[in-house]
Amino acid sequence: MIETDILVVGAGPSGSLAAKEAALRGANVILIDRKSEIGAPKRCAEGVSKSGLAELGIQPDPRWIARELEGVRLVAPDNTSVYLDNDTIQLPESGYVLERKVFDKHMAMDAARAGAEIMIKTAATSLERVDDGIIVTVNKMGEEIQIHAKIVIAADGPESKVGRWAGLKCNTPFEHMESCIQFEMAGVEMENNRDLALFFGSAAPGGYVWIFPKGDDIANVGLGILKTKADKTAYEYLTDFIKTCPETKNAQAVEINVGGDPVNGLMPDRVGDNILVVGDAAGFVNPLTGGGINSALESGVYAGIVAAQAIEDGNYSKKNLKEYIKLTDDNIGKNYKKYNKAKEYLLSLSDDELNEIAAEFSEIEFTEVNPRSLIKTLIKVSPKALLKLGKLF
Ligand SMILES: Cc1cc2nc3c(=O)[nH]c(=O)nc-3n(C[C@H](O)[C@H](O)[C@H](O)COP(=O)(O)OP(=O)(O)OC[C@H]3O[C@@H](n4cnc5c(N)ncnc54)[C@H](O)[C@@H]3O)c2cc1C
Repeated sequence: MIETDILVVGAGPSGSLAAKEAALRGANVILIDRKSEIGAPKRCAEGVSKSGLAELGIQPDPRWIARELEGVRLVAPDNTSVYLDNDTIQLPESGYVLERKVFDKHMAMDAARAGAEIMIKTAATSLERVDDGIIVTVNKMGEEIQIHAKIVIAADGPESKVGRWAGLKCNTPFEHMESCIQFEMAGVEMENNRDLALFFGSAAPGGYVWIFPKGDDIANVGLGILKTKADKTAYEYLTDFIKTCPETKNAQAVEINVGGDPVNGLMPDRVGDNILVVGDAAGFVNPLTGGGINSALESGVYAGIVAAQAIEDGNYSKKNLKEYIKLTDDNIGKNYKKYNKAKEYLLSLSDDELNEIAAEFSEIEFTEVNPRSLIKTLIKVSPKALLKLGKLF
């Protein structure tokens, strides 16, 4: 039996940051991941907010930045485009397109440098509560091992099981789990290969199609759909889009990525005796944009801080870990209800309505774009927006 203060399951952005912060504060930390290479394969379009990284003190490193972005292009079903540039935009997930295979490894290396012990190709397979903590059974390269931890941090991503094994109700309902698929492609003829492009409407019911540039002719081309709103598979929607979009029709896929994106907002049940749940496993994804890297990192930081403090206190009870709920509610989740409402509005629009809104928006010179100014403009051009969004921001 291996003994540790804190066991972090999953070395994605949330798990590595949790491990790093806890280790920096003197706790004994083990970080495990079932993958043989941390970060690979990626399941992400790799867009991340510059300011979000800066706020967490993560210094940009050319080794893991594929592209620095200039702005965002929003595209209506009839191809009308609305351009928002980085100087005017204050929305999340704008800034860089990462090379996540390098980024995730880099974050794990930082956790190792802080003192965490990393075990790769090590999958958690079951969990048992005992009087003085939790015993997690893991499969490490074919060998079964037991790890006894005072606190477990579940960072096991969108299909998380660890929290549920510990008795928490942290499971995304089917109707709120976006089904995502993406090709990394070469030969993409982008209108501007320094802008993100998002395509709305029936091309991706319940979500949107994205083209995220990673190089002059390289991009992640993908989409997310809600199965309850779709009548084809995500793969069919994507291949149909790629065939018909002028930018992608001559491009070739070099990688395919599939995965779920929980877009329901933060789960209330993310803390229990001896356990904290972080990142996608606890629904930290922004329900409007589907982006979860920044919030995963941030939730990991709070979990690491709170868990290390609990180790110092010698008290791993739910009550003593509840500070994590407060920190994440106050700093990450406070706008998620609004984002959810904005998403509902967006999903209620037909292709024709989207075309009309885009036509109006394309005439406007934006000097500043933040959620409030966007909604004010929407209310001006779409009567439905007043009804559905009202005084949202
Ligand atoms: C197609 C797609 C595109 C996306 N695009 C973007 C984007 O552009 N921008 C953005 O911000 N977000 C995006 N997201 C969301 C983003 O990828 C996630 O929010 C983010 O990766 C969450 O980080 P995490 O640490 O919580 O989980 P993950 O990154 O999923 O990491 C979980 C880790 O846990 C490990 N693991 C799981 N189970 C076990 C186990 N039993 N034992 C050991 N290890 C285990 C996995 O191997 C994995 O390494 C996208 C998601 C998808 C699916």
